[in-house]
Amino acid sequence: MKICKTREELSGLLGDWRAEGLSIGAAPTMGALHRGHLSLIDLAKREADRTIATIFVNPLQFAPHEDFDVYPRELESDIQKLASGGCDAVFAPSARDLFAADFSTNISVGGVGENHCAVSRPHFFDGVATIVAKLLLLLRPDVAVFGEKDFQQLSVIRRMVRDLEIGVRIVGAPIVREEDGLAMSSRNQYLTAAQRKIAPVLHRTITEATSRISVTGADWGEIGTWAQRELTDAGFSSVDYVNLVDAATLELMDHAGPEGRILAAAWLGETRLIDNCAVLSTE
Ligand code: AMP
Repeated sequence: MKICKTREELSGLLGDWRAEGLSIGAAPTMGALHRGHLSLIDLAKREADRTIATIFVNPLQFAPHEDFDVYPRELESDIQKLASGGCDAVFAPSARDLFAADFSTNISVGGVGENHCAVSRPHFFDGVATIVAKLLLLLRPDVAVFGEKDFQQLSVIRRMVRDLEIGVRIVGAPIVREEDGLAMSSRNQYLTAAQRKIAPVLHRTITEATSRISVTGADWGEIGTWAQRELTDAGFSSVDYVNLVDAATLELMDHAGPEGRILAAAWLGETRLIDNCAVLSTE
């Protein structure tokens, strides 16, 4: 596996691939890789001739009070995992290499980038959109794979790529979970043993909410309130939101529609977990 730490190494490698007429699949990550990330590589391998992962803990998407300084950085073991997963290359730049000292551009995606996670993390999606645009323009892959685990993020990226004509096909990858249902996340390692026992209740609750809304056809208000209470009763410190949305627009819905999705975010101590699942239509 090729390891590129600078943009020069990257452009040399991509130039070689392009000269051979090979298509390129990219999987941007922040590292601390788990099986969820490796599933993106598997998918990229099916979609393109060569795959490249990027590892960059993006300072633009962290607010000053968030966990940028302590976010897990495990480059050596990440490289091993990617190599064993059959990834062809990794791009792991430094912030100094990626950003000019007077970098001052911000990409803000309205509509799908508002509400839900944007309420408690108002600058998060700007940070994500800006770095993802930068990486896609640097790599110019044919395909880029992002996880449905971060459903709103995937929607923001799709919208940005469409609106700005970035010219890459975005592919969504299904959520990879632990055996007890907890969605894999680099932040799960922050959880204490006691919190880790509570964490799967997030998935269990939204799954139960999807069946309640599709089986009973009830109004979301009641089920959403029930779901929030389930989470706090189970020991979640607080709930940012549990929302029923239209998967295409991320607009709030009252009843299960043809493309419903439940999105949720809740806190266990200092750790914020997110999850989502599709709602089967009652129609
Ligand atoms: P991150 O390193 O957390 O920024 O995530 C990088 C990419 O991996 C994003 O596209 C995530 O949506 C995706 N990802 C993270 N966790 C999972 C998971 N459990 N299942 C599928 N994709 C995931």
